[in-house]
Amino acid sequence: MNRKYLNFDELSKEDQEFFIEDSWCDSCEAADLGIVEPKIYIENDEEFLEGKCKVCGELQTTTVVIKELKGQPPKW
Ligand SMILES: [Zn+2]
Repeated sequence: MNRKYLNFDELSKEDQEFFIEDSWCDSCEAADLGIVEPKIYIENDEEFLEGKCKVCGELQTTTVVIKELKGQPPKW
């Protein structure tokens, strides 16, 4: 597998907060619990966010919509 890790710290503060808060935990079956130790990597031209659930500590991997990382920043 060709997996390339990006430096999460190089993301803008807004992006970091978005990724950390916009999470889904399979173990808790709940959204937006937050994650710790976030990592972003690219594999097969798809971007993934990996991190541990703040509540149960399980490792979670989420697909990232690349459009929100590159090009125009989303407006919210
Ligand atoms: Zn959890």
